Amino acid sequence: MGGPSAELTASLAPFVRDVPDYPKPGIVFKDITPLLGDGVAFGRVVDVIADLGRAQRVDAVVGIEARGFILAAPVAYALGVGFVPIRKEGKLPGATHTREYALEYGEAVLEVHEDAFTPGARVLVVDDVLATGGTAAAAGHLVELAGGQVTGFAFLMELAFLHGRDQISAASVDVLLTV
Ligand code: AMP
Repeated sequence: MGGPSAELTASLAPFVRDVPDYPKPGIVFKDITPLLGDGVAFGRVVDVIADLGRAQRVDAVVGIEARGFILAAPVAYALGVGFVPIRKEGKLPGATHTREYALEYGEAVLEVHEDAFTPGARVLVVDDVLATGGTAAAAGHLVELAGGQVTGFAFLMELAFLHGRDQISAASVDVLLTV
């Protein structure tokens, strides 16, 4: 799969707002709420990610809490496949697989339901931002622990200078915008 078209990138970039020093000093937060609030831009993002999932013939779409949910759920609907949440610690009610991972400062925990996938299910993992890659790597491991097979990761945006791609292995890693 080639990268996104220059036209797509140019059409989406104005809808991502930089918020300096949020949530802590030194971080430039990529706020996607303007994009979500524009029906055309949001629809294009969902359509492009759904095309990726269709090409990968996925059986399920995973969203990573919380902004990943917003993108992944309409993609799953568009593909006519199930949506599976990967959530922060303690939020899923059933038996879970758990994965700890390193954040820039400290650690975090993600979980998935043990019975989330049929064995060997082909899974697209969706999130808003690929930064250091720790979150995506943990999500990928959880899919595999639960019996799924990650066919690809799709992100709205990649902070390429953090080299998060190096942390994840999948048949394909697609991003719509690169910073
Ligand atoms: P990482 O594990 O470092 O790749 O961080 C990825 C997760 O943190 C994603 O779920 C993003 O939503 C969030 N994130 C990290 N950095 C940023 C940023 N600069 N702006 C917005 N979200 C971010």
